[in-house]
Amino acid sequence: MSFDLDAITRDNVKGLSPYSSARDEYVSDGSKMVFLDANENPYDNGVNRYPDPKQRNLKGLLAQRKGITEANLLLGNGSDEVLDLLFRAFCEPGMDNIITLPPTYGMYKVLSGINGVENREVLLDADFQPKLSEILATADGHSKMLFLCSPNNPTGNTISAQGIAHLLEHFKGLVVMDEAYIDFSSQASWVGQWSQYPNLVVTQTLSKAYGMAGIRLGICMASVAIISVLNKIKPPYNVNELTQQRALERVLDQQAVQREITAILAERQRLYNVLQEVPFVSKVHPTEANFILAQVDNATLRYDQLLKKGIVVRNRTAQPLCHNTLRFTVGTPEENQTLIAALNQLS
Ligand SMILES: *Cc1c(COP(=O)(O)O)cnc(C)c1O
Repeated sequence: MSFDLDAITRDNVKGLSPYSSARDEYVSDGSKMVFLDANENPYDNGVNRYPDPKQRNLKGLLAQRKGITEANLLLGNGSDEVLDLLFRAFCEPGMDNIITLPPTYGMYKVLSGINGVENREVLLDADFQPKLSEILATADGHSKMLFLCSPNNPTGNTISAQGIAHLLEHFKGLVVMDEAYIDFSSQASWVGQWSQYPNLVVTQTLSKAYGMAGIRLGICMASVAIISVLNKIKPPYNVNELTQQRALERVLDQQAVQREITAILAERQRLYNVLQEVPFVSKVHPTEANFILAQVDNATLRYDQLLKKGIVVRNRTAQPLCHNTLRFTVGTPEENQTLIAALNQLS
């Protein structure tokens, strides 16, 4: 397909070159140097130096793990920063628009509001699948990004691969595939498919399966051309030293990550089975994420009852197509047992 990246990039961004920081201008080759270039405090405490603005070690490892190059990677302070950079690179405030498919992750709408970019909403269908022709009919020459979340939050289901491919082929702007929950899913990731679909952007995060929500590390993967545009507007030190270190250790410890994912998947199945037997639960939605969306008789009542028992779930009743639903994150076996005991006590 033909895709003109230049045509969808904001004019002010096209003219920028990335900010060059002290740590960019002198790149260590490992030899012992005296660093008097960045006005840092010289006394070593582990974090007295600025972090690597290009996160070379972490990107090297991630690129290897994902079978891509470092030039296909942009890291940010959580996915939220990565998504914000996409808005700032491609969406002209007051002129451009994005398309989102509720019920979905709330940050797309929040970021569209912050950036002054119209958010055009096309509801998912009753099976939580995108309405392909309606989405394409909603798009116009100013539709810069289409957000697809698969597995989707809060519904938990995946979008069919044919549907995604159809949108990648026919949507003229960027298709942003949010794969925050991909490690819990049986579906294949879209990472690397940009050679076939140049308008594809994939985002992932260390916040969910990798168990590192606290360090804030978001991952954006796309063609070198798209990543180069984002690098022009990225704040130089957006991923701090502590985050880079902890992320590196964690990605290296793939066994521990995999062990936890396996445990969460087993618990998800157990919770899914139990929820189906709870008298006030009317529907348990299929899930490929680390949470389960269930429809109950009265979501606000059940939410309050669980709260009184010390359990916090997410009440999604106000979301479109989610009337009277609660979203249950899969916890440890003990936490899930506490939830199950509480559900069985409610009437
Ligand atoms: C949790 C979540 C994220 C993660 O955001 P971070 O800023 O990386 O913590 C991204 N997308 C979706 C759909 C999510 O549910």
